[in-house]
Amino acid sequence: MKVLKFGGTSVGSAKNINNVISILENYAKKDSVICVVSAVGGITDKLLLAGKQAQLKDTNYTESFNIIKDIHFNIVNELNLDKSSPIIAFVDARLNELKSLLDGIYLINELSPKTSDKLVSYGELLSSYIIAETMKNRGFSADRKNSQELIITNSNFTKAEVNYSITNKNIETYFNTAKQSITILPGFVSKSVAGEETTLGRGGSDFTAAIVAAALNVEQLEIWTDVSGMFTTNPKLVKQAYPIEKISYQEAMELSHFGAKVLYPPTVQPVLNLNIPIHIKNTLEPEAVGTIISNDAFVSSSPVRGISNISNIALLTLQGSGMVGIPGFSKRLFETLSQEKINVILITQASSEHSICLGINETDAELAKTAIDATFENEIALNKIDPIIVEKDLSIIALVGDSMKNHQGISGKMFSTLGKNNINIRAIAQGASEKNISAVIAEKDVKKALNTLHEQFFESKTKQLNVFITGVGNVGEKLVEQIKQQRKYLKENLKINLRIAGLSNSRKMIFNEDGLDLSDWKDQLASGETASLEGFFERTKSLNLRNSIFVDVTANKDVAGLYAQYLRESIGVVACNKIACSSDFENYKLLKRLSLKYNAPFLFETNVGAGLPIIDTLGNLIASGDKITSIHAVLSGSLNFVFNNFDDTTKFYDVVKQAAAEGYTEPDPRIDLSGVDVARKILILARESGVEMNLEDIENTPFLSDAGLKSDSVADFYDTLIADEAHYQSLYASAKAKGCQLKYVAQFNNGKASVSLQEIPSDHPFFNLKGKDNIVMFYTQRYPEQPMIIKGAGAGAEVTASGLFADIIRIGND
Ligand code: ADP
Ligand code: ASP
Ligand code: MG
Repeated sequence: MKVLKFGGTSVGSAKNINNVISILENYAKKDSVICVVSAVGGITDKLLLAGKQAQLKDTNYTESFNIIKDIHFNIVNELNLDKSSPIIAFVDARLNELKSLLDGIYLINELSPKTSDKLVSYGELLSSYIIAETMKNRGFSADRKNSQELIITNSNFTKAEVNYSITNKNIETYFNTAKQSITILPGFVSKSVAGEETTLGRGGSDFTAAIVAAALNVEQLEIWTDVSGMFTTNPKLVKQAYPIEKISYQEAMELSHFGAKVLYPPTVQPVLNLNIPIHIKNTLEPEAVGTIISNDAFVSSSPVRGISNISNIALLTLQGSGMVGIPGFSKRLFETLSQEKINVILITQASSEHSICLGINETDAELAKTAIDATFENEIALNKIDPIIVEKDLSIIALVGDSMKNHQGISGKMFSTLGKNNINIRAIAQGASEKNISAVIAEKDVKKALNTLHEQFFESKTKQLNVFITGVGNVGEKLVEQIKQQRKYLKENLKINLRIAGLSNSRKMIFNEDGLDLSDWKDQLASGETASLEGFFERTKSLNLRNSIFVDVTANKDVAGLYAQYLRESIGVVACNKIACSSDFENYKLLKRLSLKYNAPFLFETNVGAGLPIIDTLGNLIASGDKITSIHAVLSGSLNFVFNNFDDTTKFYDVVKQAAAEGYTEPDPRIDLSGVDVARKILILARESGVEMNLEDIENTPFLSDAGLKSDSVADFYDTLIADEAHYQSLYASAKAKGCQLKYVAQFNNGKASVSLQEIPSDHPFFNLKGKDNIVMFYTQRYPEQPMIIKGAGAGAEVTASGLFADIIRIGND
């Protein structure tokens, strides 16, 4: 014999009920089956709502009743029973009773726990009748038995305790003589010894099935629900969660106690001692393997079996110097809570005994505060302890696993993973059995916490990165395209799941917490919401995704001004914008500090030499103990392009225009030609070498004409290039006469830096620098004579985008 239990969704529509019937039909071919059913999905909540409305004199209770009525009649109609069936008359009669009960509650505006139990019982009484009647009508050997006649409890309404000696006898007696091969039982409902209607607690149909399974010592208990088993974590919150094939009773119990709703916690108890396995199956996908809960030993790759969470938690803190070393405080505290029937979910006490922290249901918080403050009235008046502190909007997350106790470092990993994602832990508890490590965190962080912990313990091979890109001009567009093209490769080869979760230009912005679909990102962006820098930050922050990275692909000062805000939220920053790193030293230092403090990477490789690995190499030299003595470099791709193409057959104006058109210059070419851009770059290299320096400290010898230097606008500036052609030709002629090439050179020497246009002789490594190439020569203690040289394309949208991409991947590989 087998006991099968079908949950609310499984019996939530005529179609699903037909599924249930065909599952039962198959089983009944081999053996007799007992089928426990829940109320139609959502009905228990609706009954409670109608009751609450009636109690509060809200006439909407009749509307709620009508919804309940319609749901049941729709199902009955769609089941297409023949006219001889008494189903309509039965359902009608029960609904009339229900309506009278609600009217009664409305009249006396009172809803006691006892009445509430009577009220919610209608859900299971109706569903079990409808299913049994349908099966009979279709010719099955089926019958319904009201569990209220079998399961006998005390009078603890809404969560009654079972009297097993009477209950077991009732069940045995009934099934000893039952003739039908399929018995349908309503779950959840029971009666007290005194004959009052009681229930077994929300989710209690699972428990009904376990009680029956144990009383008859059946071979297996099956819980049929709307998911394919007990998952590694809540599948509604973590997409990557997957069903656990096998799990021990203890682990299943811990997971359900800590919020895995798929199994009502007391369910395990009756079957545990008899070793009856529980099989969790999916009614909507019967062929899926599901989860087996049993005592069998099994191996698993991870010591953590699952992660669960309980929402709506309040944390109570009792503290005060008067508590230290004085026995009896905890006893009085727990007695008070127990008198008020308040369930304590989590307890922590610091070894100093100075404070004790309790996690309880948020709905009990007010009651708990009043009661505890009353208990400790005297001590509070004498300032020995503080009035109890209540914090709300919290949640408990718990790692569960039988073999966690044999593995070191799991809690460390758990807390560092949460810490890295800026999730603040309010309290921690670890059961002495070490089957469970739980932490109290803010409700708003739950989804992020579960996802990041799941990634850490169950998908250790993949890391999800969520990037938020601002600026989709030349470089930004290339970056999005490169990401689009490489996503699959990164996932398969580097185990990085890279998603663009936000995108913005100066006009519009779009977001998607599951990652934007990049196939038509331009169209999506064009019809996005109005962009603002603060708005982009707020949305990025409130999405609260793990491993979030803000990517600045602008040259905008205001965008650079927001990095500190991002870093403070533990959102990494990747920038090709040089403004922040070349701003005043205090700000540069602050950003570095914030990056360390909030564990948020701040990378800006593309600030110097576009995609060339210059800053990274410099960082590696310093980190390995080397010291930079001097840097000689050609760092402007645009100026190199200009001076490589400018000669006595071309016009300076034309060459600069072409450099702009190719995307080598900054949007404002004066920033390149005045030397400011190169000055910023050598400043950044100097700072990264460990030197405290500001932009004003860099000696800048300009080569532009006076008019060019003083021009007010980009257009004026271009005009001066035409007017002052002779000036630029004379620079060229002077170099040519000496057999030299013009190169714009940055130097850092003995703590001093300079930028200037120089005539480079033919035996110098800079002489043959082509096109838009950059070159950097690092002279260090380890490279005193022959410098370390990095050379290659130092400008252009494609290489800059790939430099940004490399920074993002660097974070992914961390
Ligand atoms: P039923 O009505 O069948 O009893 P429940 O709604 O009580 O179904 O329980 C199933 C639901 O439990 C799933 O739909 C899922 O949202 C939730 N759930 C929470 N944690 C887990 C978990 N670890 N594994 C599976 N389901 C979970
Ligand atoms: N119908 C009850 C509830 O929703 C019992 C159950 O479904 O298990 O809590
Ligand atoms: Mg359930």
